[in-house]
Order: sequence, then structure tokens, then C-alpha cells
Amino acid sequence: MKKHDQKPKPMTHILSVDVEDYFQVEAFTGSVDRKGWHRWPSRVVANTHRVLDLFDQHNAKGTFFFVGWVAERFPHLVREVQSRGHELACHSYWHRTVYSLTPDEFRKDTRQAKHAIENASGSPIAGYRAPSWSITKSCLWALDILAEEGFTYDSSIYPIRHDLYGVPGAQRFPYTHDCANGLKLRQFPPATLRFFGTNLPAAGGGYLRIFPSAFTELAFRTFEKKYGERVVVYLHPWELDPEQPRISGPLKSRVRHYTNLKHMHAKLNTVLSRRKFQPFKDVLAEEAAETEAQQSARHSSGLVADKHLHEPRHAVAHTAKGRR
Ligand SMILES: [Zn+2]
Repeated sequence: MKKHDQKPKPMTHILSVDVEDYFQVEAFTGSVDRKGWHRWPSRVVANTHRVLDLFDQHNAKGTFFFVGWVAERFPHLVREVQSRGHELACHSYWHRTVYSLTPDEFRKDTRQAKHAIENASGSPIAGYRAPSWSITKSCLWALDILAEEGFTYDSSIYPIRHDLYGVPGAQRFPYTHDCANGLKLRQFPPATLRFFGTNLPAAGGGYLRIFPSAFTELAFRTFEKKYGERVVVYLHPWELDPEQPRISGPLKSRVRHYTNLKHMHAKLNTVLSRRKFQPFKDVLAEEAAETEAQQSARHSSGLVADKHLHEPRHAVAHTAKGRR
């Protein structure tokens, strides 16, 4: 077969799960005391099983960002996620917003969580996602700390305007962040679409539950056809649990947390049936292979190394594609 007769490989997207219990979310911190978490009836094991079973049905693999508290209490769940072929990563220990912590508190929390997850699995982790997307402009120091603590990538910065999180002008596609301490941290922002000069969140959590499926589909198509980038999908195990106990809290929190829970399974099923998904670590491995291939091509063609030589292709492409 001639090369141009070959069909292009369909794009693979990124699947991620923030493994936390329904009472640990930011929306209900006013009603639920962290010190009393152990008194709440936990549903995270059963709910994560629902996620795992659904993923298995579609042969979809993803990255599971564990809350350290959950990993410590349910180490068998950590091992099960790992044994079913998924990547393990970190979603803090106490699920506190990063901007509410001092750098020392953040480092301590991150170490405690990393230790709990690695202790349960016996394997090192490389990825971090902040609770409630809470790495914002006021706490970019957290990225330096993550790199110092051995993380190589992060998916915590939502390039949108929101009352609790977000960096509206942040880059929308994967890039490499240069830390103030000289280290580097790969960044994977969750998916957004541009409408009238604003970034709208797409294909994750409450937005996946609440927005019509046609909007999610538009996001995938735009990423595939226009941007040539992967969609970062995210969800929480409690989103597949319409029977979870109701917690009293502000109306806005209840709307965000409880709307369309009973439709999430079907919506997710549709998303997973249409496309292929992989964890972050596989994307990083592909990027590393591309960089290596680029380097050997440059060597063999006798070109002098340029300043982009150490950047994965996507990071270079991003600066060229600029304001999409
Ligand atoms: Zn969370």
C-alpha cells in the first residue's frame, strides 16, 4: 500500500478521574468538617467500580487522580485501579484549595498524598491535579513545588473565568511550564471552546453532565478537526451515583453537584463509545518519542540544534498556533 493510501490514525483523547468521595467536594466544605470525614458513609469504592466497569466496556484507559485520604483508607482500590491498566496520580491529601494554603502547607499536603498513593501501589506517580482547579494566578508557586517534589506533569489550571477557580488568559493546549526554580512541568489544561472571545469549559465534570451532548460532541470535533489537539476529559466517581446522600449547602453548590447525576452514566457511555482514550502517561511517552525522532532527524540531516530542540513538538506548535 502506498503511504498516501493509508488512513490517518484516529485521534486518541485523554481520560481522567478525580477519585474523591461525595462529601469531600469544595461545594460542601461549609457543611462538612474534614476532621469528620470518617463518620460519613463512604461510597467511593463502589462508585469507582462503576467507573472502572464502564471504562472496561469500552476498553478505555485513563489517569486516576486519588485524594490521598481515600488512598490511605482504601489501598485495595488504588491497587485495583492500577491492576486494571490505568495510571495513578495525585489529587492532594485533604482536598483543600491550593490558594488557601501557604507554600509549606501545600508541600506537606502533597507529600502526604504522594506517599499514601505510592505506598498503596508500590509505584511512583508523576501527575498532579489540584482540588477544584485551584492553581490560580495567586499561587503559581505551587508548580515549582510540584516539580521539586518529583512531579513531571500537572493538570490543574482551567483557562476559564469562574467564581472558585480558573486563569482566564492561560494557555488552552498542552505546553511546558518553566518553573522559577529552573525545573520544567508539562501542563495539560482541561478542554475549552472559544465563544465570542470567551473560553467555555467543555467535556468535563458538571459541564459534561449539564451541557447538551451536542456541545460535548462539538468540542471533540473542534479539537480533532480545527486544533489537532486531544480533549482532556475529567469526571468524578460520585457523578455516577444518583442515590448518594444529599448534603445541605448553598443553592449554587447543590445545583452544581446534583444536576443530571442520573444522566451521567449514559452521557459518558456515549462519549466513550465514539472515541479512544488513554492516560496522560501514554501521551507523555508519545511526546518523548516524537522529540527523540526529531532529534535524530536533525542529527542525520546535519542541522545545528535550535532552541526548541528540547521541547516536545506540541509545545513548539502551540507557540506558532498562538491565539486559537
Ligand atoms: Zn476534586
